[in-house]
Amino acid sequence: MATHAMAPHPQLVETHMVTSRTGTTSHLRFRKAVLTRDRKAGITHCPECGVTLNYDISRQPNSAEPDHIIAHRYGGTNDPSNGRTICRQCNQRLGDKRRPQGSTAPLKPSPGW
Ligand SMILES: [Zn+2]
Repeated sequence: MATHAMAPHPQLVETHMVTSRTGTTSHLRFRKAVLTRDRKAGITHCPECGVTLNYDISRQPNSAEPDHIIAHRYGGTNDPSNGRTICRQCNQRLGDKRRPQGSTAPLKPSPGW
């Protein structure tokens, strides 16, 4: 009888970012460790765009967010030494575009046109 499954809404899922990157305990620890470390270290501006970082309010364009220096998919770990603090906007912009050194694979536009 219980066929009323709670179907996920694609639009809502997007706001939670990619679960494979953010859904683990180790990532949460990573996030806190990197932000705390860099805040104490006096990192007040995004190294990418220079905006003043906001450590207190999340989901703002200039909210401080941890960035993996080496992305997970390229073997990066959740060790704080693999993290730096950048603004949310740069975090989203960089996202999947970063490539390991030596890789020259071009970004392909998604097929389908
Ligand atoms: Zn930035």
